[in-house]
Amino acid sequence: MSLPSGDWDAEHMLAFAPCFTDGQVFGFNPETVISVPIDPQTNRPPDVDEHGGHITPDPAAVARAVRMPICNACARRVGHASLYPLPKESTR
Ligand SMILES: [Zn+2]
Repeated sequence: MSLPSGDWDAEHMLAFAPCFTDGQVFGFNPETVISVPIDPQTNRPPDVDEHGGHITPDPAAVARAVRMPICNACARRVGHASLYPLPKESTR
């Protein structure tokens, strides 16, 4: 089995998924990937309103939010204020 060359660590590159923000499929380590919590009812982070502004998160929205991995380029673009590493228990 041959792996594509690149500046990644193949041993720890365990998962591939589309980036939530731009839809680009990227590889990541589920233990360290940057992710953003998304409320499935609004398809937005609980602390972001429909205009992209920052709001006080509704605890119910936080509770139902699902953490979606995003690529490094998007993480840099949106900043890290509302981003978290995926919790280990959510990985497969
Ligand atoms: Zn992205």
